[in-house]
Amino acid sequence: MGTEHVTEGCKRCARCGEVLPFAAFAKLSAALDGRQGWCKQCFVAYRSEHRAELTAKAKRHSQTPERVEYRRAYCRARAAIDRAKAEADPQFAEQRRAKWREHARRRAERIRLRRAAEKAAAALQSIAIPNHLTSAENES
Ligand SMILES: [Zn+2]
Repeated sequence: MGTEHVTEGCKRCARCGEVLPFAAFAKLSAALDGRQGWCKQCFVAYRSEHRAELTAKAKRHSQTPERVEYRRAYCRARAAIDRAKAEADPQFAEQRRAKWREHARRRAERIRLRRAAEKAAAALQSIAIPNHLTSAENES
């Protein structure tokens, strides 16, 4: 069972069957030839075909207790490093404060916009649209 003979520097995609140059395959150090078995195009196609499923899976994975704990620990560690750095470096401390102010401002803006949108949606729902308007739109 030797490897199939294909042009030097090329390999056959295990999904679409095309013989393509190595550059068309993403790197994978664990593979014998250092490349993925599927070409990049096939990965793109697979991801778009399974988008919803993959997104749900990633979301489930990110919410496992291990991942939640990892993120928490990471944030704590980062904050500790930044705090120590800020104590030693007033300029860094000021940059850090400015970053947080900007963060808080954007967050407030996001919340304000969402509230406004919710209010507008509620107002829109309370308006009774006259029948002749909706039926005219349906006819066209
Ligand atoms: Zn392919």
